[in-house]
Amino acid sequence: ESKSLTKNKTGKENTAIYSRACKVITGGVSRNTIFREPHPYYVSHAKGSYITDIKGVERIDFANNMASLIHGHAHPNITNAVTKQLKKGTAYTMGTESEVDFAELLINRSVGFEKIRFVNSGTEAVMTMIKASRAYTGKPKIAKAEGAYHGTYDYAEMSQTANPSNWGDINKPNTVPLVDGTPQGVVDDVVIFPFNDIERTLNILDQNADKIACVLIDPVPHRIGLFPASNQFIEAIYKWTRKNNAILAFDEVVTFRVNYGGAQDNYSVVPDLTAMGKIIGGGFPIGALAGKSEIMQVLNPRQAILKHPHSGTFSANPISTTAGRIAMEMFDENAILRLNELTKKAIYQIKESIKIADVPISITGDGSMFRLHFTETAPRLYREAYQPKQIKNIVTELLDYMFLKEHIIMINTCACMFATTLEQKEIDRLSQALLNGFRLIK
Ligand code: PLP
Repeated sequence: ESKSLTKNKTGKENTAIYSRACKVITGGVSRNTIFREPHPYYVSHAKGSYITDIKGVERIDFANNMASLIHGHAHPNITNAVTKQLKKGTAYTMGTESEVDFAELLINRSVGFEKIRFVNSGTEAVMTMIKASRAYTGKPKIAKAEGAYHGTYDYAEMSQTANPSNWGDINKPNTVPLVDGTPQGVVDDVVIFPFNDIERTLNILDQNADKIACVLIDPVPHRIGLFPASNQFIEAIYKWTRKNNAILAFDEVVTFRVNYGGAQDNYSVVPDLTAMGKIIGGGFPIGALAGKSEIMQVLNPRQAILKHPHSGTFSANPISTTAGRIAMEMFDENAILRLNELTKKAIYQIKESIKIADVPISITGDGSMFRLHFTETAPRLYREAYQPKQIKNIVTELLDYMFLKEHIIMINTCACMFATTLEQKEIDRLSQALLNGFRLIK
């Protein structure tokens, strides 16, 4: 009977499921789902680097659930450990040793991680980082980079999609709310600076020096353009925060994959606080905030005067901490080295495809991530990387072709976030498919 059920389901059209979905789910989806018009493609199952949809089409997955699956899909070490834990229960109002094991493992990965607390998502980790910064410094404002994505906390999402019609003067960028009805007070408490532009950023920060609790930075911001912050930029901000009693707050929700201790390993200074998420959950929902003990102390529920009461029903649940621990144990220095080398190889091969197709396309990236840009030279600033409508249309055409004809899944910005399950043969498929795609859009 179970066989016929599977068969029946496999024969169902994506459109039929989507029309059911639209009746009960606003927009038919609950999240940023890969959507090739006119509907999402529904998954049957996935293993390693491959996802099979309900119509039996197998695709190579270079999106890895928005950069969160560092070992691809259904890694046996993770599914075995999680299955064992599932049978013992999934969430209790008591402590688990699994939380402590995982905390010890993560703390040992970076000198900046003296203490840690777990939450349920990257958004929550960033929110907790901002609130802890306010509680510690007693100051209300945050500073963030124009175009940077940090999840959906309202302070963190300002100017996330700033565009030429609203971004204003580069010397003093506008704080652009994302959601209609955002209170003016929220807008007023977010200072926007241009990523990687030292002089302008320091000027802007100086104008708000006595009010800024933290400077929030994703060291390799995907939506800005997926190029790393320069060491000089990070150092300048670090010095500014020392001088002005502010917190240097890294969002490493995506970039923790770049090195053993995250992208912060690449810089000469250490952030005060770091938000993590995605890969550290081993495929399950998680977030974490780590950093200096003295600052993390504001979250300590066992102190006499609690500065920032902090909890969460599913925080540090043993499924996420078990999966995360296994995933991060496997993501050791050798695995990172191999993965980052494989990514370099892929970038090299794609650059060859660009040359052969003779198209004005450039590539940015770091570690196991890269993104294509439809400009001859690689952008270095958000406003350079910003894509007008006609470029966005080309991107969509390429992504449609890759997904529908080449059976390759990329992130919607034409980015890839690699997993350790990838091998040379998938890289060859990617660079060949892109060559075909480049010829098509030329
Ligand atoms: N920060 C960055 C840099 C992200 O890319 C994301 C998600 O894509 C988040 C924070 C939010 O994480 P989550 O989707 O787990 O809430």
